[in-house]
Order: sequence, then structure tokens, then C-alpha cells
Amino acid sequence: RQLSCPVDIDRANAHFTRIYISLLPTEEENAKRKQLLTLLETLVGNEWPQAKLHVFGSCENSFGIINSDLDVCLSIDDENLDKSAFLLELAAVLKDGHLQNVEAVVRTRVPIVKFMDPSTGISCDISVNNYLPLVNTKLLRDYARLDGRLRQLALIVKHWAKSRGVNHPFNRTLSSYTYVLMCINFLQQREPVILPCLQAMLATYTTTVNGIECAFFDRVDEICHFGSNNESLSQLVWGFFNYWAYHHDYENDVVSVRTGSMLSKLSKGWETGKKDQKYTHFVSIEDPLDTTIDLGRVVDRKSIKILREEFERAAQIMQDDPQPWISLFETY
Ligand code: ATP
Ligand code: MG
Repeated sequence: RQLSCPVDIDRANAHFTRIYISLLPTEEENAKRKQLLTLLETLVGNEWPQAKLHVFGSCENSFGIINSDLDVCLSIDDENLDKSAFLLELAAVLKDGHLQNVEAVVRTRVPIVKFMDPSTGISCDISVNNYLPLVNTKLLRDYARLDGRLRQLALIVKHWAKSRGVNHPFNRTLSSYTYVLMCINFLQQREPVILPCLQAMLATYTTTVNGIECAFFDRVDEICHFGSNNESLSQLVWGFFNYWAYHHDYENDVVSVRTGSMLSKLSKGWETGKKDQKYTHFVSIEDPLDTTIDLGRVVDRKSIKILREEFERAAQIMQDDPQPWISLFETY
């Protein structure tokens, strides 16, 4: 469907802005997170004095919303570390420290220990020597600093995805990280553009992690107020859902923040449903740093249908509903 943005869309702007503000983590919550981090530093430091803790994910990338979990990477200088054995030991230390629901999940690509802190109510995942997310966290945070509308749009999209039950990689829908990348790419493709492509610019930040060279422009303060696009938050919310409902070419295109454009599935070898392929690639989003990863690979035949129906529902609401700021987030 070719739809044009409703003429009175800006009527919704104050409402979306109000919702955005209500989603921001409170000072009190940030203080509780710091308190939990200090407790963890003490527990871990007593056992492994050389270990360091680094926070990543939504607490650090500026796309956190109220009640987000805390993602922590423990770094320990030991190339031969048996991560599973270490995480089991860590789980025992955390249990002794009176943390609740402590569970080591070690049979996954990224093994973790998860738990809940009863005194703050915060849930936390700890991984070991897992450095790439620290770099993608910085990349996302640097994008957020370029234009305030990215954070606004991404928080609205995350809130929509959580409300509608389409933000669970375990249930074959997309992760928060993936939705944020979809928002960045969407703003990179606006005309006039809202976000530049930091990885295509002169690299002022470089690091190599797991053999992957990460390089991008990170002096973002020098290019704030980039461009002349004045679209409002409600126009962008309308545009985002309209794009994913009616314009994205699911069959052929790969969303690529790394290049600020779309790549072809053919060029990546990610054709939908190709034989002898590990994944079906019903929707493809390239990880900006580990470009061998399609973050959409979790989606299957059943969940792509649900996802597309949800994008269409959201687009229709943004088009026709008199109060899109309410209907969009009706819980599923
Ligand atoms: P939420 O508020 O929902 O917890 P989040 O930003 O913490 O959002 P998650 O999807 O929980 O998002 O992921 C946490 C972090 O882990 C991300 O910010 C990202 O740095 C990293 N991450 C998640 N999935 C991947 C992945 N498939 N590949 C690389 N890094 C990832
Ligand atoms: Mg998280």
C-alpha cells in the first residue's frame, strides 16, 4: 500500500513525547543499578581480584527503558579459561552472596549466569570475556548522541515490541539490539538524511575484538545538528511502521547499518529458504561489527507472519486511529 503521512500527524507528537519521557529510567533506578554493580564488584573482587566488570547493553547504550535488566561482562585475563566451569563457580559465589534465582546458562553461543537482586529487584546477566557487545554498545551510544530523535524513536519502538510480545529472541522474534539497529538504518535512509554512517567515515576509533576489526568515527560532538531534516517524532514513528509494513523488501534486502543502506541477500549468501543453509533468513539485519551474523536468523516461518502482521497493525493505527499513542501499545 502506498500511503501518505496523515496531515494531522503532529497532533500525536506531544503524546508520543510524553510516553518517551515516561519510559526513561529514573534517577532512583540508576542509583539502584550502581548499588548492584558495587555489590557485584565486591563479591567478584574477593574471589578473583584481577577480574574487571564492564556494563553494556541498554544501561550503557542509552536505549534503556524503565525496568531494563543489567548486562555485565566480566573480563579476566586468561586465554585458556574454561568459560562454563568459571560461570558455574561464579554462580556459586553469587548464591553465597544472597542473590536470587541464580542460574548458569552455559550451553548457548554466549554462556551467562543470570540472577535477580532481591534488594533492588533488578535482573542481571553476566558473561565472561565477551567483548564485541562492549564495542557495539559504544557504537549505538555514539549514534544516539548524533540526533535526539533516534533515542525517542527507538524507545517508542522497543515499548511497542515489548507490549505486543515481539521482542523475544527465545520466541523467535527480534532482540532489542536488533530493533535499535532497524531504527538507526531507517534514519540513515531518510531524505534528507537524519543519521550519517559512522562506519563509512574516517575512523577515529579502532579496536580488534575476536579477530574482527571495528572502526568508526566517534567524535560525534563535532557533527551534531547534522543535516536539515525537521521531521517530528510522530512522523518518524509513522514512517518506521509504514516502511516495515509496506515497503521493506523481505525477499531481497538486508538492513545494513555498517553501510547505511540496504545490501542484497544474494551478495551475503542469505537468500530466503535456500537449500543447505543453516538459517532461512525470512528477514535479514546484518550485525554492524560481526558481519557474518544475520540478527534476523532467529525468525522462522511462524514468527515472520506474526511480526509482519504486527508491523501492519502498527502502520494502520498510525494511519487511521484517532489515538495512535494508546492503541499502538495495547498489550497482546
Ligand atoms: P533491553 O532493554 O531489552 O534489555 P538491550 O539493549 O540490553 O535491551 P539486549 O537485546 O538484551 O538489548 O542485548 C544486550 C546487549 O547485548 C546489546 O546491547 C548488544 O550490545 C549485545 N547483543 C545482543 N544480541 C547480540 C548479538 N546477536 N550479537 C552481538 N551483540 C549482541
Ligand atoms: Mg539488556
